[in-house]
Amino acid sequence: MFKNLIAGEWQDGHAVSRNINPSDTRDVIGEYAQADAAQADLAIAAATAAFPAWSLSTPQQRFDILDAVGTEILARRAELGDLLAREEGKTLPEAIGEVVRAGNIFKFFAGEALRPGGETLPSVRPGVGVDVTREPIGVVGLITPWNFPIAIPAWKIAPALAFGNCVVFKPADLVPGSAWALAEILSRSGLPAGVFNLVMGRGSVVGEKLLNDPRVAAISFTGSVATGQKVAAAAVARMAKFQLEMGGKNPMIVLDDADLGVAVNAAVNSGFFSTGQRCTASSRLIVTDGIHDRFIAAMVDKMKTLKIDDARKSGTDIGPVVDAGQLGQDVDYIAIAQGEGGRLAQGGERIEHNADGAPGFYLTPALITDTTAAMRINREEVFGPVVSVMRAKNYEEALALANDSPFGLASGIATTSLKYATHFKRHSQAGMVMVNLPTAGVDYHVPFGGRKGSSYGPREQGRHAAEFYTTVKTAYTQA
Ligand code: NAD
Repeated sequence: MFKNLIAGEWQDGHAVSRNINPSDTRDVIGEYAQADAAQADLAIAAATAAFPAWSLSTPQQRFDILDAVGTEILARRAELGDLLAREEGKTLPEAIGEVVRAGNIFKFFAGEALRPGGETLPSVRPGVGVDVTREPIGVVGLITPWNFPIAIPAWKIAPALAFGNCVVFKPADLVPGSAWALAEILSRSGLPAGVFNLVMGRGSVVGEKLLNDPRVAAISFTGSVATGQKVAAAAVARMAKFQLEMGGKNPMIVLDDADLGVAVNAAVNSGFFSTGQRCTASSRLIVTDGIHDRFIAAMVDKMKTLKIDDARKSGTDIGPVVDAGQLGQDVDYIAIAQGEGGRLAQGGERIEHNADGAPGFYLTPALITDTTAAMRINREEVFGPVVSVMRAKNYEEALALANDSPFGLASGIATTSLKYATHFKRHSQAGMVMVNLPTAGVDYHVPFGGRKGSSYGPREQGRHAAEFYTTVKTAYTQA
């Protein structure tokens, strides 16, 4: 039984959750304790008690702890990557890449602990000086989704601790293994008891407790729009600080002048790798008339070469969907798109067993052509290996289609024209814009986030993380 970490101690839960391998559903990774609201309350109390001392810890203390955590994560990349691939279903190279990202994030924020910054200015009044400094905000509640089981926890926990906050972390129910492994590393890192707490449990129990408890000063949430709206409503009602990273319906434009190989590689990578289960996946391809038919033919050829199999097997390009519920949603959306007039050009077949005969949640990547902007397949997030294609007459129409979305997380363009690339970077209504690159796959040292229905509040990651995890103080002094 993998337990919760509360006030520096490993505690049993009140129920048990089984962590199942989606590549082989007979494989149970482990049993994980599920906390109730009373245990979440204890974790919040422990974090509250630990905050006064931790908020005054030295930058050197925080650097040393975060740097050592990053070093251990990087050293154990193969083992942690294997666990991640086993519980989430992304391929082993993708999973190891995610673990490396998490290690690098801890090292980046170790450095940020030493570089808090601030401003000293003359006042507009004679003889008065002004200092602008940043202080930690208090206890932060961190709520994460299942699709990046170690990187998203890392990009919330590391800055929270680096800037002197205490943490209550609630991971996604589906993937507790990587979260627990990260908590175990943090439990041996020299953090005082209560500074970091892991509380696994249901969103409606542990999550809601974090949202509604007045001792939790801020909530950082990544997940679906529906849950994000609940987080926002609860936080506003009690004036807590909050930050939301939610869904996407990310467009990639392919112009007539694109390098065909570059465009196909970018579209296949960001549409289908990690089983399409990335918030930055390009799920809408917008292709201009002059290249449309050649591009679709090349996509279909490439898709036929992809190997769908056990996530941890060498040579697998695409692993399984994460669970039965998500698989059902993917299959439903393929049918919805066809019902709306879309044409299934390739894939979309359910595979019950992998090459070794193991039962799993496999689906061949689906490409749906002949779609229009009003169709549900182009407006709603599927969160699986399902990509739709729209035709456009020219760049201007393609740009308008790309921006015609309730979401605005990432966007991309494949073109050899500097003119269109430059125009797109300025006029795309997305938080992250890619030229001749997949929309998914971003650096760890720069801001991450979107616009419109995709995000709310300050950006995560890079130096911009300080906006959320600190509060600004302006002090005036007359000597
Ligand atoms: P989800 O909203 O179902 O769950 C996210 C987290 O919220 C989980 O830990 C869950 O237990 C918790 N939760 C559920 N109900 C809650 C409640 N009432 N109160 C408090 N917490 C609650 O999302 P998911 O299915 O785990 O993740 C998939 C979604 O995440 C997709 O929409 C995807 O686009 C999004 N996502 C966004 C980003 C981003 O940075 N924009 C990154 C990854 C995933």
